[in-house]
Amino acid sequence: DAFIVKVSKAKALNAFIVETPDHAIAAAKDADAARAAGETLKPLAGVPIGMKDLFATKGVQTTAASHMLEGFKPVYESTVSQRLWDAGAGMLGKLNLDQFAMGSSNETSYFGNVISPWRRGGGDNAPLAPGGSSGGSSAAIAARLVPGATGTDTGGSIRQPAAFVGISGIKPTYGRCSRWGVVAFASSLDQAGPMARSVQDCAILLENMAGFDPKDSTSLELAVPKWEAGLSSSLRGKKIGIPKEYRVDGMPAEIEALWQQGIDWVKDAGAEVVEVSLPHTKYALPAYYIIAPAEASSNLARYDGVRYGLRELADGQNLQEMYASTRAAGFGDEVKRRILIGTYVLSAGFYDAYYTQAQKVRTLIARDFDNAWMECDLLLTPTAPSAAFALGEKSADPLAMYLNDVFTVPSSLAGLPAMSVPGGLDKAGLPLGLQIIGKPLDEQGVLNAGLAIE
Ligand code: GLN
Repeated sequence: DAFIVKVSKAKALNAFIVETPDHAIAAAKDADAARAAGETLKPLAGVPIGMKDLFATKGVQTTAASHMLEGFKPVYESTVSQRLWDAGAGMLGKLNLDQFAMGSSNETSYFGNVISPWRRGGGDNAPLAPGGSSGGSSAAIAARLVPGATGTDTGGSIRQPAAFVGISGIKPTYGRCSRWGVVAFASSLDQAGPMARSVQDCAILLENMAGFDPKDSTSLELAVPKWEAGLSSSLRGKKIGIPKEYRVDGMPAEIEALWQQGIDWVKDAGAEVVEVSLPHTKYALPAYYIIAPAEASSNLARYDGVRYGLRELADGQNLQEMYASTRAAGFGDEVKRRILIGTYVLSAGFYDAYYTQAQKVRTLIARDFDNAWMECDLLLTPTAPSAAFALGEKSADPLAMYLNDVFTVPSSLAGLPAMSVPGGLDKAGLPLGLQIIGKPLDEQGVLNAGLAIE
């Protein structure tokens, strides 16, 4: 009840697209009944959580923060959300995000931007971005509206918003969480994961989200480890790599200092720190901003005014014109930009020059990580090159916005597990995040290093 009241009072943050108190109440009642009957409680019995509005929820509007899907009520439930409900959790509502998860500030939402509950100190009252695309998730957790939430991460959308508001979030290995029922952005990159106030909460939530699903052809057929039980903040015997190419030009001194602080913390926890090289790092961002739009342009072809959501049909329009007017009205500017880039790089004349090249770069980046694992067990980097920026500061300049993903995108291209944990505050008093990247399937190692830093 306390959470339901808080959610209803915190409208100014715009973190929720719809509120679903009845869903959360039903889960709480089930938990109470089980408790009264002396039954063993489910792992998340009665826990209220927020659901990023990219997950299909049966009978509850699922929009991907777009006009295209406004009013769309799926007749099915995503595998990840179903697993959470099966574990006893309840839903407080559907959380705002960047439209179709495209963005780093939550400003591309059709339902308006989310406002971070943080402000800079010293009387600077500029409203700040909560990060993106999972900005509703990050703001809701930071404002204590929900104890935990789901996110999705294609190029950083769990980690960067977590960093911006001082919480934790983990993107597991590609294939750990089913993509079934998650509105597709870039299918070879999209991964669901939890966001929460502590590493332990992330471990608990992830255990109840991950798992093999025959309905997703890229789902990994592996048992879900007991990550919470395996938590340990000792890093004795672990080698932590510091990738020198992440020391990018113009990196603010505060981010350098944060990184150094992280290095000291993992050393205190018993780790040995080594410098490693990931030579193709600087090509990751351009490759990502070819591959992700290419896949998006293909995935978004399904919004045709017939199968889902919106239809714009003026008198006398033919089918082609109906497609065009629906897509013109249904997609926001950033989504259109990505569709245009994506169709361009996939077009017959430019495919080899852009898409094929980007795929080759992706392979080289994955190989960089494979080589790094010969020298270390985990990597430690900053999560983002800056603290939260003001709303509107980067929204007019897509390239400036894309640059914010510089540290999160390489591990996405390689499908690796990666987590952001709070690393401290900058001089304006804003949170900064540290990122831990692990070997494929080593979520435990990532979580443990997160616990050591937290
Ligand atoms: N900011 C990145 C983008 O706009 C990542 C988004 C995401 O991970 N969903 O593509």
